[in-house]
Amino acid sequence: MNTKNTWKKYRGELYQRYFSGNIIEVFVTDRIDSVRAKAELVLNNKIYIPTDIKLPYPIDRSTAGPSSGSLSIALTFINKNVKLVISQNQNEIYSLQKENGKFHILKDKKIFLENVEMMPILFHAPGQAFINLNNRCIYNCVFCNLSKRGFLHEYDEEKFIKLIFKASNRSDFHAVALTSGVYPDNVKTIKKMCNIIKNVKEKLPAIPIGVEPCISSRKEILLIKKAGADEIKINLQIPDKYLFDKICPDFHYNEIPNILREAVELFGKGKVTSNIIYGVGESDRSVIKAIEKLAKMGVVPTLRMIRINELNKKKLEEISSEKLPDISVNRILKIAHEQKKIIEKHGLTTQTFETMCHKCGCCDIVPFWDI
Ligand code: SF4
Ligand code: SF4
Repeated sequence: MNTKNTWKKYRGELYQRYFSGNIIEVFVTDRIDSVRAKAELVLNNKIYIPTDIKLPYPIDRSTAGPSSGSLSIALTFINKNVKLVISQNQNEIYSLQKENGKFHILKDKKIFLENVEMMPILFHAPGQAFINLNNRCIYNCVFCNLSKRGFLHEYDEEKFIKLIFKASNRSDFHAVALTSGVYPDNVKTIKKMCNIIKNVKEKLPAIPIGVEPCISSRKEILLIKKAGADEIKINLQIPDKYLFDKICPDFHYNEIPNILREAVELFGKGKVTSNIIYGVGESDRSVIKAIEKLAKMGVVPTLRMIRINELNKKKLEEISSEKLPDISVNRILKIAHEQKKIIEKHGLTTQTFETMCHKCGCCDIVPFWDI
C-alpha cells in the first residue's frame, strides 16, 4: 500500500499509525501531532526570523501578557494559533523560513512545520483590539510581565476610545478586550475602564467586550457589567495558597473564589474566566484542584504557563523550592487534558468566549480549540 502523501512531510512520530490509507486516520494523526508541535513552540516561546524575510504584517509589541515588552508575531497552522517572541539569536532552536511564498518553521534548521501562516495582530491579539490601559501598577505580583516600556502614559480615555474606533474599521476587528495595571488606585482604574466600555458599547453594540480588571467587591463587578462588558477575567493567578501568598502578596487567596462566584452570578456561566499560572513550583495536584474549584462555580479557567524573564526570574526562583521552569511539553499537555476533562464535566467550554485568551489561543493549549 502506498503511504506516501503530502502529510508525511509534516511531522514524524505518529506515522506508523498511518498505514491503512484511510483519510480520516491521517487527519486524527495529524491533529494529535500538531498539538504537541504547538506545545513545543509555547514552551520555547521564541523564533528567529532571518532579516531577508519580508513579513506580510507588522510585528507586535505588547504591553501586557506573556509577550509583554517584546516584539512578537502570531502564526497559525492546522487551526492552532501561536504567538512567538522574535529572537535575534541566529542559533535559536526555532526559526522561520520562507520558500516559494510559503512560511515554514524550522527546528534546529530542519523542517518542523510546513505552511504556517502569519496572522495580523490588531492590538496585542489577532482579531481583537486588546488594550492595556495602564502599564503602571501599585501592586507587586512577582511574576508580572507588565511592560514599563510603551506609549501608555500619553493615553487618556479619549485616546483609547479613538484607537478602538479606528481599529473597528479593519476587516479583522471582531472584539474589544481591556486589561490594566492598577494606577493610581483601583477606583480610578475601574472608572476609566467603565467609561471606555460605555463609549465603545454605545457606538459598537454588536462587538463583544471582555475585561480583565482587579476586583475587590461585588459593586465593582456590577459597575463593569452595567457599563456593557460581556465577559470578565478575574485572576486567581497562583493555584497554591502557600505560593500565592509569596507571589501575590497584595491579594487574599481566599477572597478570589468569592469574587468569582459573584462574577458568575452577574455575567453568567461560561462568561467568566480566571488565569491560573503554573510552573512556579506548584504540584499538578494543586493545579487540578484549582481548576476543579473554579469550574464547579461556573468559571472557565485560563491555564497559563509562566514565562520567565530577566525581571521575574531571580525573585521567582527564590520563592519556589523548584528550579524554574519546571515545565515540559508532556506537563503542558497533561494539564490541558485535565483542564478539558474538568470543565467538560461541569458543562462548560472555552468556546462560549468571544474575547481574551480562550478566543485568541495564542499563548497556551486551549481545550476545545486545540484539543
Ligand atoms: S495586579 Fe495585575 S498588573 Fe498589577 S502587579 Fe499584579 S498582575 Fe501585575
Ligand atoms: S492568548 Fe491571551 S495573552 Fe496571549 S496573545 Fe492572546 S489574548 Fe494575549
